[in-house]
Amino acid sequence: MDGNIATPKIAPNGKPGDWFWVIALRSGGVRVYCGLDATQDPRLLSCMRMEHIIPLCCDGPDVLENLALGCAGCNAMKGKWNPAADTIAPLTREQLIEKVRMYLEPRRAYYAAWVKSFSGAPDLACI
Ligand SMILES: [Zn+2]
Repeated sequence: MDGNIATPKIAPNGKPGDWFWVIALRSGGVRVYCGLDATQDPRLLSCMRMEHIIPLCCDGPDVLENLALGCAGCNAMKGKWNPAADTIAPLTREQLIEKVRMYLEPRRAYYAAWVKSFSGAPDLACI
């Protein structure tokens, strides 16, 4: 363990997900990209995901600062898209989250139609 308290590793004791509830509490149960509030609808709890804002595959750090409360739908739409790509100056965490929101917004209707084509009834709580 590197002992960096400001940016602790996601799995300091080898258990991925240790930071999930820290992240959930930090956002007040509100998903950072779609804004749905898990405290208002219990169906939303099962769709919550711990999300790397800058994906690990794009050298995103595995630290609390790079983690956010997302959901299955937003996570699927975002995939490996990197909000820090093609930027010159480093962006703040909030700026990166805003870039992801702008990236996802036009994709929501298409994603909902795609999910519906398989299930017949999209779980809108996860989109
Ligand atoms: Zn979402």
